[in-house]
Amino acid sequence: MAKKSNKLVEKVTKPPGSNLKAIESNPWENVLTQVHNAAKVLDLDPNCLKILEKPSAILTTNFPVNMDDGSLEVYTGYRVQHNTARGPCKGGIRFSPEVNLDEVKALAAWMTYKTAVVNLPYGGAKGGVVVNPFQLSKSELKRLTRRFTYSILNMIGPERDIPAPDVNTNPEIMSWIMDTYSMIKGHTELGVVTGKPLEVGGSLGRLEATGRGVFVALEETLRQQNQQSCKDVSIAVQGFGNVGSNFAKIAYEHGGRIAAVSNSFGALYDSEGLDMLELVDYATNHPREELIEFPGVEVITNDELLKLDVDVLAPCALENQIRADNADDIQAKIIVEGANGPTTPTADEILAEKKIVVVPDILANAGGVIVSYFEWVQGQQHYFWNEKKVNATLKDILVKSYAEVNAMKKKYCLQELRTAAMALAVQRVTHAIKLRGIFP
Ligand code: NAD
Repeated sequence: MAKKSNKLVEKVTKPPGSNLKAIESNPWENVLTQVHNAAKVLDLDPNCLKILEKPSAILTTNFPVNMDDGSLEVYTGYRVQHNTARGPCKGGIRFSPEVNLDEVKALAAWMTYKTAVVNLPYGGAKGGVVVNPFQLSKSELKRLTRRFTYSILNMIGPERDIPAPDVNTNPEIMSWIMDTYSMIKGHTELGVVTGKPLEVGGSLGRLEATGRGVFVALEETLRQQNQQSCKDVSIAVQGFGNVGSNFAKIAYEHGGRIAAVSNSFGALYDSEGLDMLELVDYATNHPREELIEFPGVEVITNDELLKLDVDVLAPCALENQIRADNADDIQAKIIVEGANGPTTPTADEILAEKKIVVVPDILANAGGVIVSYFEWVQGQQHYFWNEKKVNATLKDILVKSYAEVNAMKKKYCLQELRTAAMALAVQRVTHAIKLRGIFP
């Protein structure tokens, strides 16, 4: 990530189909639609809905960074806290040229509902900086991270708001955030950020946790369809970053046939199944734009990947990938959402008509925040767990949460898991709001 080279510039990915209604690709509008759907199911108190419709705090910061060549750039960043009724805020930080306030607001709200669905004592937040990190040197990236951390310093803290990695951020960047906060506070504060390297208070299992959780969600879905394993289940994975590559590897190790994987430069396809161990090794040792140069495999487009005739589609890249204009062409029978917000509400309706099971983001990708919670607990206690305990407790929480979502689905005779998960989350958050009451 840190090399300064035009070759490494990540392609900016815009959904194809310029005729899209702006509203369909506005993630904040999409999350509001999902919440309103849940509110209707619950016959929610309109006063509670008013609270959920607005993030509780928004910070926009424009901050300067000295570049290696002596010039200066001013970057824009955001931290949004959506709701704190259930505890301190939790949510990642994204570095991308596509970051905008509505996206960060939506991601913060999804964190409120995700932490509620899996019953963690957190609210939701998210942050982002409008930057292409692939165009920065490592020292520029470090200065940008430290200055952005300083800009949001009064919002974050172990009892207040705890960031974590998201798109284009990683454990090393989390260690710079922890260090910046700790230097200013005058003592090491492990609990200010999660997703840290193991050497500085990270948790075993955190790096793979989101992908592992997506796999657990898939296993549960298959089990409910009387399929006891994912052996020979064909899977297409969009996005080969932290979430997608770990999910693909774990599914492969359990006998799944990974027919296709992609990143923003294109997709690799082999109907017989790709060798994930070789591919992960290759991806680790090559820049992202060279993924599609993996020898001996057919290259297809991301659009074609979404429409493959596979059992399972795992969108693990960005929002708004499955929309009104392509949902009807999806052939997978199960969609398990590794990314946040990959399916728009209009697409949800089309998929429901096609009887495609969609395991929603707030449940399917909650493994990351679950193990972030373990990391925060371990950091506060200065006592660290072994990996077996991390993975087993992650699985327990996700399986229980899935069962609770299914119970909501049954209770309210719902067709979609998304509305059931949202209803469960909204119910938990609004109970907390009512129990605490409105200050003063
Ligand atoms: P990452 O930066 O590690 O990887 C993102 C991947 O998506 C990269 O391979 C990138 O090239 C690819 N990509 C971008 N646009 C694409 C497109 N249009 N088609 C195909 N591939 C594309 O990010 P990540 O941490 O893996 O996050 C991916 C998604 O998962 C995001 O929606 C994020 O919010 C969500 N998520 C991440 C975590 C986590 O712990 N990292 C937890 C929960 C949810």
